[in-house]
Amino acid sequence: EWIDLSEVLNSAIQKTKWRAQEKGLDMRAYIQPDLPFVYCDGHRMAQVFMNLLDNAIRYTEQGTISAKMTKENDVVKISVEDTGIGIPEDELTYIFERFYRVEKSRSREFGGTGLGLAIVKNLVEQQGGSIRAFSEVGKGTRFEIKFLISPDIKKEEEEE
Ligand code: ATP
Ligand code: MG
Repeated sequence: EWIDLSEVLNSAIQKTKWRAQEKGLDMRAYIQPDLPFVYCDGHRMAQVFMNLLDNAIRYTEQGTISAKMTKENDVVKISVEDTGIGIPEDELTYIFERFYRVEKSRSREFGGTGLGLAIVKNLVEQQGGSIRAFSEVGKGTRFEIKFLISPDIKKEEEEE
């Protein structure tokens, strides 16, 4: 269905904010005004955002978690960025695999099962979206989700 995805993002931020604050992390959101509706499932996207925010908080010791939602041409982009420990470049391609966890020592320290991102990727792709990760060790990580708004759909909205 067509939904205001920014509401889903905002509520995920509200739900996780206290955990960021508990760790002394800043949590910020930038949502571009007048975004179009996105064709997706609100419950699934809530799960996606919760997972990404959970990771961002878990793998960040200091700094800022920022969530952004913007539109560029026919694409709505949502990003969740942190200033955490980062992911080595050669491992970036594996993080979306089930049970994959970066470095065993790290896993012991942080807990978790390694399923979160596999579920996230499945959910996003089920809904016709795409997800990518960018990261630098010691600097932070950014996840970007994209949903295409087809030009036809946009026109229909404008005509309403
Ligand atoms: P869970 O199933 O509880 O989510 P998990 O967090 O270990 O466990 P994923 O969410 O799938 O599993 O993430 C896979 C691995 O990718 C993590 O173990 C972690 O090493 C790395 N990772 C994920 N997100 C981040 C992040 N924001 N910063 C640094 N490393 C990350
Ligand atoms: Mg996780």
